[in-house]
Amino acid sequence: MDQPSTLVHVAIPRPLHTLLSYSVTAGEIPAVGVRVAVPLGKGVSVGLVLGVEAVAADSESEFAIKPIQAVLDTEPLADAHLLALLEWAARYYHCPLGEVIFSALPAALRKTKPLSKAMQRLLKPAAQPAAIAVEPDNALQLTASQQACLQSIQTWNAESTPRPVLLHGITGSGKTEIYLRLMTPLLAAGKQVLVIVPEIGLTPQLLTRFAHFFAEIPTVCLHSGLSDGERFKAWLRARSGQAQIIIGTRSAIFTPAPSLALIVIDEEHDASLKQQDGFRYHGRDLAIKRAQMLAIPVLLGSATPALESLYNVQTGRYRYLRLEQRPGSARPPALQVQDTRPFELQAGLTPDTLQALRNTLLRGEQAMVFLNRRGFAPALYCPSCGWQADCAHCSVKMTWHARRNRLVCHHCGAEQATPTECPSCKNPQLTTQGQGTERLELLLQNHFSGFPVVRIDRDSTSRKGELEEKLSAVRTNEPLILVGTQMLAKGHDFPNLTLVVIMDIDHALLSTDYRALERLGQLLVQVAGRAGRATKAGQVILQTSQPQHPLLQQLVGQGYTPFAKQLLEDRARWSFPPYGYHALIRASSETLEPALRLLEFIAERLKASEQVIQCLGPVPAPIEKRANRYRAQLLLGSKQRGALHTALDFLLAGGVKLRGCSGVRWSIDVDPVDF
Ligand code: ADP
Ligand code: ZN
Ligand code: ZN
Repeated sequence: MDQPSTLVHVAIPRPLHTLLSYSVTAGEIPAVGVRVAVPLGKGVSVGLVLGVEAVAADSESEFAIKPIQAVLDTEPLADAHLLALLEWAARYYHCPLGEVIFSALPAALRKTKPLSKAMQRLLKPAAQPAAIAVEPDNALQLTASQQACLQSIQTWNAESTPRPVLLHGITGSGKTEIYLRLMTPLLAAGKQVLVIVPEIGLTPQLLTRFAHFFAEIPTVCLHSGLSDGERFKAWLRARSGQAQIIIGTRSAIFTPAPSLALIVIDEEHDASLKQQDGFRYHGRDLAIKRAQMLAIPVLLGSATPALESLYNVQTGRYRYLRLEQRPGSARPPALQVQDTRPFELQAGLTPDTLQALRNTLLRGEQAMVFLNRRGFAPALYCPSCGWQADCAHCSVKMTWHARRNRLVCHHCGAEQATPTECPSCKNPQLTTQGQGTERLELLLQNHFSGFPVVRIDRDSTSRKGELEEKLSAVRTNEPLILVGTQMLAKGHDFPNLTLVVIMDIDHALLSTDYRALERLGQLLVQVAGRAGRATKAGQVILQTSQPQHPLLQQLVGQGYTPFAKQLLEDRARWSFPPYGYHALIRASSETLEPALRLLEFIAERLKASEQVIQCLGPVPAPIEKRANRYRAQLLLGSKQRGALHTALDFLLAGGVKLRGCSGVRWSIDVDPVDF
């Protein structure tokens, strides 16, 4: 009789919707979760073992099956829980499992090499830390409302299968203090806590507070600024249980943590929680899933909760708590809409706004002007023939950066020297249109000479340490004007900042993207939250040419909650998320036609699935050409999540290939947030 032999089923980092099978010899059978090197085509690939199966040696398929080349690890890197989460995510997001697994694991594990001896030692579980005192002596006294919130959460979290809690607290209401207190007893008991934040580089103060409060607790911080080696070491410290606090951006949700007891998602509404390419997962939604699988509590915090989360509160899926006041004497700022139409503007600012800035400086206080566009001007054109500086690779205009005198495409990064005359009619007098932060900085410097103007955007903070340098200039509390983009919207706490001016919100008010207003509302509230953080009253000026826009009026007059409620009603009327479910199929190619043709084929296949779904499109994408590729999209909608997912399964099971479409790249985005 033939000897039985063993097959392993392996996920590899390629766009394959199946696992690959290889044979192994009896002496080297790897465990599930171990990496192997396997032959693939003419080369070698890394793979992760997901199944081990004994088969009769004479079974027919044996001829095609190749042996693995090497077992790379002595013990599993991913435990059963993490693998189950990744398998769930691959099914839900319709992304190939191998790609999901290898984008979730640290890059250092994508090599077909065994780990060094030092790294292997870090795979051993750490000794449980003794029960130590964690809270510092000088901790703040919680206010009565903070205390009440903490108590409710602790009671709820003690249930056997706790529901997610949404903590809706205005900026500066003390949510972070509640996270800290909630973590304290868990850490004292030797457990681990995972804290997901939007962008760590932008919120250094949060890290300082954690480090100060939990000075004795081993903490790792996972963010994009780490090298592959640093990231891997942090990952290993979490995996061994040694690091008890794991703070990171969205991908930190995949960090192994054997004694995980709580997940906190700070700024749960933030768009950066959604991965926008490759494996397009949502960090918040996977956090909820992970917590559910482990039956541990998850806390979502925000001053401006996502409509999805508010809807989950309405349906009872989440619990809800509100913090409406700032501790001490700090008061939320007064919001005031400034109609730009009757005025002659200077770099986009009205005379009233300029006066308010001056008054602030003369009182010895700080002001911030928020403009979400970097560069000097978003358009350079010829007033005589109408030529404009377009990107050669994208269907967008190039932005003029005055300081470097370059034209830069903000979509593909292409750069070129600024022409000295019109390339079309030789007119030497080219003109700019619109405002960017560079122009604003220049104007404010001229207008308020004697006061520093500090610009914070991606261009002015690209050198290491530059952001910190600028932030510490602001923290001197000297009177000055801060100019900046999105980077200033969250996390920062400047006690002497009393005026915030928000420019150029018309674009979002008039946008056709149904998420634009939600995002605008969140941004306005977040930016406004920078003013009046300490004892001084704050003021916020919103400049717009659409002052009578009903939703803007509602936001300013009644606040975020009624505004969000109104938006939810509008979404319900159209069965838009969260009342319906969307998936977006994107395709791109060197010309538009093949991309559209492939999407038409996909739409036909989806119809053949006989599920109740709507297909909108295919249509060219809002930015039709980007980095030399033409882009098209097909939006799928359904009132039933199941129908949408069954249709996508049907599509993938049948395969997608069409004559004449070989150069087309396409992808599925489940629950898209960006169109
Ligand atoms: P949020 O996370 O809701 O924006 P924070 O937790 O950052 O709010 O608190 C805002 C500010 O108020 C911080 O400077 C914090 O130190 C302070 N603070 C929070 N809770 C209290 C309290 N109970 N007593 C005094 N100050 C507090
Ligand atoms: Zn011209
Ligand atoms: Zn471009």
